[in-house]
Parts: sequence; structure tokens; C-alpha cells
Amino acid sequence: MSDFDGLRALVTGGASGIGRATAGLLAGRGARVAVLDLDPSAVDEPLYAFRADVTDDVLVRTAVEAAADALGGVDILVNNAGIGAQGTVEDNDDAEWHRVLDVNVLGIVRTTRAALPHLRVSDHAAVVNTCSIAATAGLPQRALYSASKGAVLSLTLAMAADHIREGIRVNCVNPGTVDTPWVGRLLDSAPDPAAERAALRARQPTGRLVTAAEVAAAIAYLAGPHSGATTGTSLAVDGGMQGLRLRPA
Ligand code: NAD
Repeated sequence: MSDFDGLRALVTGGASGIGRATAGLLAGRGARVAVLDLDPSAVDEPLYAFRADVTDDVLVRTAVEAAADALGGVDILVNNAGIGAQGTVEDNDDAEWHRVLDVNVLGIVRTTRAALPHLRVSDHAAVVNTCSIAATAGLPQRALYSASKGAVLSLTLAMAADHIREGIRVNCVNPGTVDTPWVGRLLDSAPDPAAERAALRARQPTGRLVTAAEVAAAIAYLAGPHSGATTGTSLAVDGGMQGLRLRPA
């Protein structure tokens, strides 16, 4: 397929997991793709790689400009870089709240701010934010992470309203539990990772984890030419978790 021919995409957190799958899928469908990541050393050609921390406004601006130069502009911005946090409001101190909100929420603000001048002059401008079912599910032991993704959801709606008249669409995906290196790290920290993985699978309505490729396909739909009338929405990619009102433990 080459439905992204001529389109230029920037993917944050594109060196691993969902972002990596998204960058690869968009490139495979004809887009020119740049990845912005803390550690882009594993990103291969034909993708362009830029090292930046989304918590650093100067680094973000510099990397977005370099990516726009390399790509010849930016039509698609995938704000995917994010980190996790576990616990109740008693478990994370202020510094941890600032750290996670800085990456998950302000990271999107910084990257979008830097990319907007390029998106405004695109004939096909789309932003897709990676949110989470945590934004609305009321997950136990995820107070900080849920609050950060709740902010991503409302930010998506506000950005969609602010930029609709400029021809810029803004949507988000809400993944459930996705089989990425992030989840792998969490499982590996359990006393019996294999048993933990089996239990996690069993808790999914489908009996399996969501794949990064499945989330990438949803991101590509929202970023691509077939969703021109779609803005200000969230698309669940969660194996039925949200629609069936189930809870991952
Ligand atoms: P991952 O850890 O496999 O990949 C995240 C990537 O983001 C890494 O390459 C990392 O280097 C990069 N990154 C992290 N902090 C950064 C920073 N400050 N600046 C630049 N890059 C940074 O994780 P993943 O599972 O692919 O998660 C990607 C996104 O999907 C996150 O926003 C996460 O909240 C969301 N999500 C994941 C799941 C899941 O189950 N894996 C579920 C719902 C939502």
C-alpha cells in the first residue's frame, strides 16, 4: 500500500513499542518518517532519527526543525512518547508527579507547539496522541498515570477545537494492555514473569494482549487520508476492555 505517498510524519517515542510499529507502518505505506526519541540508536534507515527529550523545550524545537528539514515539512505528528507510574496518590511524591506529567502531557504540548508552523502549511495535517484506557477507566494503583492520560484526552479535544479551522485534525488512540518492551519490563520485574504474563493474558477479554501493530494501524487510520472527517475523537484499541466495561487488574 502507498496511501501515505508524499506525506511526512514525525513520531515521538518512535524507537520502541507502539511508536516503533507506527513509524515502520507509515514508512511501509509510503510516508517519509522521522523519529524523535530519548534513545534513537536502534532506528534504521529509511527512517530519520533525532535524539531529544520531550521534557526539554529547546531540544524539542531543535529536533522538530531538523526533522522538518530532513523530511521537507511535517504533515503528521504522532505524540506517542510516554512513561508509566504505579500507585495511589499516597505512593508518588510531588517530584514524581511533575516528572510524569512533564513527559506525558507537557511533552505533547512542546512537540505540538514546535510542529504547528509546519502543520499549518500542510495540505494534510493530522496529529495523533497516544492516550490510554487509563484516561477514563478508573484503574486501581494508577492515579498519576491515569491523571496524565486524562489530561492527554482533554488536551486532544481542546487542540482539535483550536486548530480545526486551520485544517489540522487532532485525535487520540486509547490502547489497552499492549505487548511492548514497556509491559515486558513490568512483567520481568515480577517474581515469576511467565506466570504473570499468563495471568495478564487471562485477564484480557480476548485472552491475549493487544499488539503494537494493532495500535499502529489505528494511529495510521487517524493520521491518514481515510479519516478526513474525523477530529476530536478517541479510538479504543483495547481488546474490548473499555466498551465491555472490564477492568485490567
Ligand atoms: P515503550 O517504553 O516501549 O516506548 C516508549 C518510547 O518513548 C521509548 O522509545 C522511549 O525512549 C521513549 N521516551 C520515553 N520518554 C521519553 C522522553 N522524555 N523523550 C523522548 N522519548 C521518550 O512504551 P510503549 O508501550 O510503546 O508506550 C508508548 C505510548 O503508549 C506511551 O505514551 C504509553 O503511555 C502508551 N500506552 C502504552 C500501553 C501499553 O500497554 N504498552 C497502553 C496504553 C498506552
